[in-house]
This record gives sequence, C-alpha cells and structure tokens, in this order.
Amino acid sequence: MSFEATGLNPSILKALTDAGYTAPTPVQAQAVPAAIAGKDLLVSSQTGSGKTAAFMLPSLHRLAEMTPEGAPTGRTPNQERQAAGARGERPRFQPARPKMLVLTPTRELALQVTTNTDKYSVNLRRIKAVSILGGMPYPKQMQLLSRNPEILVATPGRLIDHMESGKIDFSELQILVLDEADRMLDMGFIDDIEKIVAATPASRQTMLFSATLEGTVGNMARRITKDPMTIQI
Ligand code: AMP
Repeated sequence: MSFEATGLNPSILKALTDAGYTAPTPVQAQAVPAAIAGKDLLVSSQTGSGKTAAFMLPSLHRLAEMTPEGAPTGRTPNQERQAAGARGERPRFQPARPKMLVLTPTRELALQVTTNTDKYSVNLRRIKAVSILGGMPYPKQMQLLSRNPEILVATPGRLIDHMESGKIDFSELQILVLDEADRMLDMGFIDDIEKIVAATPASRQTMLFSATLEGTVGNMARRITKDPMTIQI
C-alpha cells in the first residue's frame, strides 16, 4: 500500500515525503484508513512499528478537516483576556480546549510524540501540539496552555492537576489516544486515566495502543471504546 492510498490529505503526504517516509508500515496501513473514517482502534504493537504515525497521521487529517486553513479561528485564551481588559472587565482565565489528547506513560515518550507530530503537521499551520509533563516549570506550562493548542500530549499525573484546577476543559475533545496503555497501568495511572476519560465527551474517537490487549488493559480498552477495530501486529 502507498500513503496516497490511505486517503491522507496532500499537506500531510508532502510532509511524509519530506521526512523520507516512502510507504506505510503494516500497522499504519491498517490503522490510518480506519481512523480517518472515525473508527475506534485497539492496537497491539511494539515500539519501532511506526505506531506514533499510525494514530497521529489520521488524527491530523481529521483535525485539518475540522480546522481548515483559512477558516477563522476562535480567540486564544490570551486574546480573550486582552479583549476583556479592553472592555474594562476583569479578565477571566480561559481554559485550553484541546481537540486531541495523547496520554503517554513517560516524559520521554510524550516529547517523542510531540516531535513527530511537529514533523507530520509542518504544512498544517493552524494545528499546534504541546506537551504537558511532570517536572516542567508551572509558568512554562501555563504559557503553553494559553495558546489553546489543538493537541495536548501529556503524562496523566500532571494533566490531572491542570484539569482539576480548571486550566483545561475537555468538553470539545474529539480524539483520545492512550499510547503504551499497558505501561501506564503498570505505573499505577489507572485512577488518573479513568478520571480523564470521564471528563471527555462520549462521542469522542478513542485509539488505544498497548503491547498486550489481555487482562486489565483489555478490560479498560473495551470499556472506553465503541465497536473498535482490533489490529494485532
Ligand atoms: P514508533 O514505532 O512510532 O516509535 O516509530 C519508530 C520510528 O520509525 C520513528 O523514528 C519514526 O520516525 C519511523 N517511522 C515511522 N513510520 C515510518 C514509515 N512509514 N517510513 C519510515 N520511517 C517511519
């Protein structure tokens, strides 16, 4: 299969060519067309299989359709505050309202996902991804959130802090990805994940990637997805 045959839009195809990707990996060939069509996915695959692109490419395609180039965007939270100030009102904090959330077990993986996302979305100027990580200085995170990015890539613990203090609102979330879900459960993030999932709309698309789909992770996977397509690589 070629990347063209997966249905990805030309801006993303160009970024892939520029990145030197010539053909989809097996997990990408199965996941990308299904995810573009809005299917939930349960994917058992290892690091190195190309799983990041398997969820990020179709997500970028869908986000680009929701936010076409040239369409007016809403105000950023910063602009909202300035406008309120100009009207003589006391500026109110506006939470970030991401359209996509990727949860990862570690900071390193979150940064890797964000770096790859920047590469794949280089021709989609309206789509920005930021990472929210434990250990990052709080003012820096507030500055990133104030840009109201479409995509958040986060480790669960720090994300919960921001969610509970009203800095992030998931009511407009369209796509939820759990990357290395088995490792997140091994690290004790189950309660955090449940809380985060509960804060997102039931209508979202959900993609879960894990080395195994058995046991606890399989149970959670089935609970948080709707009629998922299962891909075993
Ligand atoms: P991942 O499994 O997502 O950690 O990806 C493993 C590595 O393969 C990363 O360095 C990606 O940039 C690279 N990669 C992913 N998909 C492709 C592809 N279709 N062609 C060439 N390299 C790829």
